[in-house]
Amino acid sequence: MKQSSLHCLEEPAYDKDGTVEQTVLQQLGGIGEDLPHEIFIETVKQAPIGISVTDKKANILYINRAFSEVTGYLPEDIIGQNQSLLSNKSTPRDVYRKLWSTISSKKCWQGRLINRHRTGTPFLADLTIAPMLDKNGAITHYIGMMRDVTASYEAEQRFKNQKHLIESVINLLPVAVAVIDRENRVVLDNHCYKALISDLGIEEPAHHFLALIQEEMGDLWPQTQKNGQGFEHREYRIDRTPKSARWFSCAGAFFNENSIRADSFFRPEQERYLILTLTDITRQHRQVEQMHVQSLKLMIAEDEQLRTIRETLLGAMHQIQVPMNQIKAAEQILQCRQDERQQGLLSILQQIQQSGTEAIDNMQGCLPELPQTAVIPVNLNQILHESLLLSEQKIRNYGIEIIWKPETKLPSILGAENKLRILFKQLLDNAIEAMEAAKIKDMELTLRTSRSGRDLVQVCIEDNGPGIPEDKHAKVFEPFYTTRHKGGNQAGTGLAMVKEIMTQHQGFIKIDAACQQGCRFRLSFPVYKKAGKEARHDRTHQTH
Ligand code: FAD
Repeated sequence: MKQSSLHCLEEPAYDKDGTVEQTVLQQLGGIGEDLPHEIFIETVKQAPIGISVTDKKANILYINRAFSEVTGYLPEDIIGQNQSLLSNKSTPRDVYRKLWSTISSKKCWQGRLINRHRTGTPFLADLTIAPMLDKNGAITHYIGMMRDVTASYEAEQRFKNQKHLIESVINLLPVAVAVIDRENRVVLDNHCYKALISDLGIEEPAHHFLALIQEEMGDLWPQTQKNGQGFEHREYRIDRTPKSARWFSCAGAFFNENSIRADSFFRPEQERYLILTLTDITRQHRQVEQMHVQSLKLMIAEDEQLRTIRETLLGAMHQIQVPMNQIKAAEQILQCRQDERQQGLLSILQQIQQSGTEAIDNMQGCLPELPQTAVIPVNLNQILHESLLLSEQKIRNYGIEIIWKPETKLPSILGAENKLRILFKQLLDNAIEAMEAAKIKDMELTLRTSRSGRDLVQVCIEDNGPGIPEDKHAKVFEPFYTTRHKGGNQAGTGLAMVKEIMTQHQGFIKIDAACQQGCRFRLSFPVYKKAGKEARHDRTHQTH
């Protein structure tokens, strides 16, 4: 677990060694030398800390009132006894060894010993022992100053236990947790969060998700921070490869901690932290996604069916219109001649024309309308991902390697989702078919999204198939043009449709002439720029 800077989780500063460089007498040297001797005596007597004076072997010569209060021993019980009488016999010998080596070398010792109260109850004594020196610098006595620190030790231990408990609990949580301070530093995290660092290959996932949250919340973010409201259910997709794309649900709660700075003692200040939780919802998302893909497949199949019916009817209408035009011309010639003998023929021609017009009208009436799709801000990473899922079966069957290089923070475009899916699916299916026809051994499909300047979002779809000769780069977008051998089941309208959809999105598509091997389509779409509320409202009600 990351070292916490939260004061409740910090180790107490404590000099375990116990050595203090100066003796107490050295510290007091020169101060108050003019005071009457009795004042010094009363100072020691009335000091609120247990004081004892011993000889060089720690035999007690004097104790003050506070000493009796701490230990329970009155002067008559203990004077003449050794200080070891207080020992609970549970302090390690090394501590005493260090104590004696310190004080006998004329230094102050400070540390903690386990003592026993007169009643037999053990207590933790915080002890300072200072040697008293004569004029020649030789030790004559020792002064002991003792406090019972059992209560503060208990509190300290309780803190440590709480810290351990909190750490264990947050480490056991199946969600990643990170605590972030005002300076955006992660001051506490858990095992799950650490695992994310290596899984996602992101140095500080909390920063990555916070940036996404802030971008999405926009103006709401400073307000949320100010009110300390927190947030929840913010879902983000992290793209690595399409197979390992992961989804996370983010929640955040702010909490305030009282400042531990000395200068905030009289004017309490607060430190604010954000507890960020990242829940991996990839599994649930995949299930929802599978259902979504099924409905997309249905929608696309329905769309394709409608387009086929429309094309067939329009073709038939065109077929009828040609002889109809010829009959019309014949009728006009006969009318100009005004020949009585041709009246019968003229009326037949007029009848044919009428039934022809009726047939065309009937067909016109049968033309199915293509459904209007709403134009909304769209993330092309998501649409591309869904298009890949639509062609997943083929990709798996041919063992095609997908190289997925999405721009992490891709701006939205304004578009009709389903049309865009149809567009990408068409390009992917074309690429798969071309690679398969050319019997490419290790088929690869590269999908890349990026931002180009401030105004464009680019999508690049590249295969390692046979490619398209440069002189055909413009032609392939014409209707009914195909590079496939005759007998193929495609009429060559796919790329014409792709181009039409691009035009509807005010975008453009071209085949990259610089592509050495295979075929690389470059698609550019205008970035959706958020306008005021009204403009947004208008746009979401557009349809294609
Ligand atoms: P030991 O430490 O071996 O002690 C055996 C005897 O030898 C004791 O009389 C001890 O005082 C003495 N001794 C040990 N080393 C030296 C040395 N280098 N020079 C001179 N004499 C030595 N101990 C506590 O447990 N609790 C206290 O509150 C406490 N307060 C003390 C206050 C003062 C001012 C001093 C000087 C010592 C204090 N001691 C205290 C230490 C105490 O004197 C013992 O060293 C300790 O209790 C261990 O005693 P022991 O009998 O188990 O063994």
